[in-house]
Amino acid sequence: MAKYNTILYYCYSTIAEGEQFAADHLKFCKGLGLTGRIIVADEGLNGTVSGTEEACKAYMEAVHADERFAKTEFKVDEVDTPSFVKMHVRYKSEIVHSGLRDPNMINPQIQTGKHLEPVDFMAMKDRDDVVILDVRSNYEHSLGKFKNAVTLDIENFRDFPAKINELAQYKDKKILTYCTGGIKCEKASALLLHEGFTDVYQLHGGIIKYGKEAGGKDFDGKCYVFDNRLSVDVNSVNPVVISTCFNCGTVTHKMINCANPECNEHFTQCDACGEKLDGCCSDACQSHPRKRVYDGTGYYVKVPQPVNVKKDKLELAE
Ligand SMILES: [Zn+2]
Ligand SMILES: [Zn+2]
Repeated sequence: MAKYNTILYYCYSTIAEGEQFAADHLKFCKGLGLTGRIIVADEGLNGTVSGTEEACKAYMEAVHADERFAKTEFKVDEVDTPSFVKMHVRYKSEIVHSGLRDPNMINPQIQTGKHLEPVDFMAMKDRDDVVILDVRSNYEHSLGKFKNAVTLDIENFRDFPAKINELAQYKDKKILTYCTGGIKCEKASALLLHEGFTDVYQLHGGIIKYGKEAGGKDFDGKCYVFDNRLSVDVNSVNPVVISTCFNCGTVTHKMINCANPECNEHFTQCDACGEKLDGCCSDACQSHPRKRVYDGTGYYVKVPQPVNVKKDKLELAE
């Protein structure tokens, strides 16, 4: 039996004193011995936390006991070791960065795409009048996505709004959006409605819940996650590997961060190339003086970066 749980959740609900809430919440999480990352904004909560089963249970009960978050749904995974090293709770302007100049233009608490439960999503997704839209970024959908999904060439969710005009050809279709845990879809589907799409649905609970409740059928590859697991299995029905090693082209779904901290690129790399390149994406990174020690996982605890270097691309999103 697993000793630890990793739980993923979000909740759109107005928080009045967000900054103070974040500070108090950090103390609370640390008191429970949890690790993880939580974003607090005036519009709600978004987090992944990891800890003992008891600590996670106590955490979920405490969140549910607050009437603002009473309806929060938690996606619980069993893990052998905690999925984070530290506990962070950060106050930000949005729980998932939408890239809109005025984020108040959309409000998932007021209008968002219709939620589809995993089995309903599965029943609808292959219809002729349906388009499945992956709203995640390149490094995520290159590792795994639904068969026939439309993907966008974006490095970050904040680039999503600028891509909506590319979807104009689908305006008369039913759009089914999906993401990792459902949080991005709340905004993506709201934005599609705002932009004149009329029949917009979203996969409730995202790929993670679809894997748990519907067996993950027709999801090819793995699902990228924002903790030290880097990816999780989704499909237990008809799985296939779709990603290939960035360096040699071999089929692999191993996802790593480049060992050069100033690059830190997320990419797929097979074990053989990992060994040859010390977990780096290129020869240049392999000879970089600050190269980190590759232990075979490709996951590194974030170290403070000097200013003006290429920023870590990891989105604190889901
Ligand atoms: Zn390779
Ligand atoms: Zn690199």
